[in-house]
Amino acid sequence: MAARTDLDRRPIKPLTICMIGAGGFIGSHLCEKLMTDTPHKVLALDVYNDKIKHLLEPDSLSWAGRIQFHRINIKHDSRLEGLIKMADLIINLAAICTPADYNTRPLDTVYSNFIDALPVVKYCSENNKRLIHFSTCEVYGKTIGSFLPKDSPLRKDPAYYVLKEDTSPCIFGSIEKQRWSYACAKQLIERLIYAEGAENDLKFTIVRPFNWIGPRMDFIPGIDGPSEGVPRVLACFSNNLLRREPLKLVDGGQSQRTFVYIKDAIEAVLLMIENPDRANGHIFNVGNPNNEVTVRQLAEIMIQVYTKVSGEPALEVPTIDVSSKQFYGEGYDDSDKRIPDMTIINKQLGWNPKTSLWDLLNSTLTYQHRTYAEAIKKSMAKPTAS
Ligand code: NAD
Ligand code: UDP
Repeated sequence: MAARTDLDRRPIKPLTICMIGAGGFIGSHLCEKLMTDTPHKVLALDVYNDKIKHLLEPDSLSWAGRIQFHRINIKHDSRLEGLIKMADLIINLAAICTPADYNTRPLDTVYSNFIDALPVVKYCSENNKRLIHFSTCEVYGKTIGSFLPKDSPLRKDPAYYVLKEDTSPCIFGSIEKQRWSYACAKQLIERLIYAEGAENDLKFTIVRPFNWIGPRMDFIPGIDGPSEGVPRVLACFSNNLLRREPLKLVDGGQSQRTFVYIKDAIEAVLLMIENPDRANGHIFNVGNPNNEVTVRQLAEIMIQVYTKVSGEPALEVPTIDVSSKQFYGEGYDDSDKRIPDMTIINKQLGWNPKTSLWDLLNSTLTYQHRTYAEAIKKSMAKPTAS
């Protein structure tokens, strides 16, 4: 392999990376990338390892020895500090991060996203370790434009909706709208990390993902997750398609999102890992501003793509509207629109997303169909207990 160099043409030294939350959706893709394309070592910490099993076994894998799984709950495990001390870089992905939990398990949400992250930040600061912390685009909350009258021409002005790391405010709903428990906890941990940087010289990078999607995201209820569980929208809609049910549009599916393919986003994280001088002290939006759709449009495209992938015709009534109260319960609220400004990540790391929404849904739904269609058929054929 030719010597790998960073963006400033300096050779990249192999690192030991302590990845917390390595068994989740993003962690599994990041571990895979680090094993296949780099010489770095990973100490992979999580409570689960199902999504990285293919990287851990068998011993004959070419990267065996470069990835080590530690089953650890960071809430209460004295091994955490020792593992952080062994690493050159700490990446913290661990979180409760499914919207259905924010208003129904607000205490767990705040503890997971703020309290449980505190020792990680403290150990990094005390031991002079670099930290890449995963925050969220939700820290922006609602756009300024959403407060303008519906017919105001200013709603079309990007100044009222594009989200910029260094200038946009963070706008959340009232405390009864417990949806914002997650965003608020993430905002406070960002502020704490930023303050550790300012006062104690912690070397940090904060990542704000904008709806990263792809294979292995969340779970399919009743197959590899609880039957009553409510995952994020990609898995909810995949589940509906696999079961030949109408896709549920919360409050009419009018909210807008920009979706980025996980593999594009992982390229951005790798650039952060390998270019510390360009990434330290920065907060980065990571998303695809070109892939904006309403949730209703997302449903329509997924229905089209899945018809092609599965060879099954679409339902006559392919979507239904549900109220957010019915779907998520009391205290739900929504972000109206999320377009990331890409200036900072472009300038620092020269990164741009590549994959169109159609292409990323095509590969993701091909994976969903291949992975789950048989299991769903079997589970639906089983007689239910009377
Ligand atoms: P995920 O739920 O798939 O992964 C999180 C992982 O953290 C899980 O495997 C979980 O078991 C682990 N974890 C949680 N609490 C833990 C604990 N106490 N001890 C050990 N492990 C623990 O979620 P993801 O999509 O991979 O997200 C990773 C990070 O990125 C999160 O911080 C999330 O808030 C952030 N994020 C992701 C997106 C996205 O588009 N996927 C968007 C915004 C923010
Ligand atoms: N949503 C929906 N139907 C579903 C699941 C989600 O209409 O079955 C909507 C949800 O209300 C939100 C958007 O899809 O407006 C994205 O939801 P997701 O859970 O992926 O997370 P978010 O982007 O809000 O963090």
